[in-house]
Amino acid sequence: MKMRMVEMEWEKLGFGPVSTDFMYSMKCCEDGNLTHYGNIQFSPFAAVLNYGQGIIEGLKVNRKEDGRLLLFRPDQHALRMKMGAQRMCMPSPSIHQFIHAVKQTALANIRWVPPPGKGSLYIRPLLIGSGPVLGQDKTPLSLYVEEEEVRAFSGGVGGVKSVSNYWPVLKALVRAKSLGFSDVLYLDSVNKKYLEEVSAANIITLKGNVISTPPTSGTILPGITRKSIIEIARGLGFQVEERSISVHELTEADEVFCTGTAVGVAAVGSVTYRGTRFEFKVGENTVCQALGSTLVGIQTGLIEDKKEWIFNI
Ligand code: PLP
Repeated sequence: MKMRMVEMEWEKLGFGPVSTDFMYSMKCCEDGNLTHYGNIQFSPFAAVLNYGQGIIEGLKVNRKEDGRLLLFRPDQHALRMKMGAQRMCMPSPSIHQFIHAVKQTALANIRWVPPPGKGSLYIRPLLIGSGPVLGQDKTPLSLYVEEEEVRAFSGGVGGVKSVSNYWPVLKALVRAKSLGFSDVLYLDSVNKKYLEEVSAANIITLKGNVISTPPTSGTILPGITRKSIIEIARGLGFQVEERSISVHELTEADEVFCTGTAVGVAAVGSVTYRGTRFEFKVGENTVCQALGSTLVGIQTGLIEDKKEWIFNI
């Protein structure tokens, strides 16, 4: 059999990406097709771009002496993608569809498969969340304390607004929502005891005149709203503590609220931990409301900005 190949100094090729001729695409669970290799277009809302909803695979195609192409355990790669997809709340190709797609890709790019002994063609299957993302919940929020999954860990990127921090914990959010809660409250990964934050907002508690919020030391996103509310609260005479807050302290909190650019200052009506529901004051004449309306007043120009937070454009 005559081998079709590109004219290439195969020995000199490193591991850097060299694009081949064709790629294979399929949408959700429909049949796919081969197209010329090129860029992929997404909506800026795409879940993969905003929340890291994506899975990668990687497998090699080798060429035998007789010219045939060999794939190593594509079924296992397919299975791993399928299991990963379940964890990431994504639809995935069936094992058959995956193997078919890899075969088609390998055959279409056959000239890029090196001769025996000169390396292999690496195929990179991607499963990408291209759809738009979830909306916000109404207040007061009902939070569910998550004990199985952790959002972040020491030495990781929990304190960065990284796309990688969102989709991995979507399963916990989906589970909480299916139980009727509006969001998840994460605990620290080591002791599973201290409050961290909500899916996309920081958490603050109030007891008497003391406002407490966990320190943003690596595993918690340093929210701009959180930072602003701390300053506003101090300005209004509250004592503000940035310290570890044990989940058990919720029993004594008067109010709990979440802060974030999207939610503003959102009242938390209840937090459920191990089947016990702790309830907090919400609505008129709450500190949450006072802080929230002060923040909105500054943001909308109704309250004088004495801190140079507003940029006029
Ligand atoms: N924590 C997380 C994980 C977030 O994604 C966000 C905002 O999206 C926040 C906290 C709040 O940050 P900010 O107040 O800057 O919006």
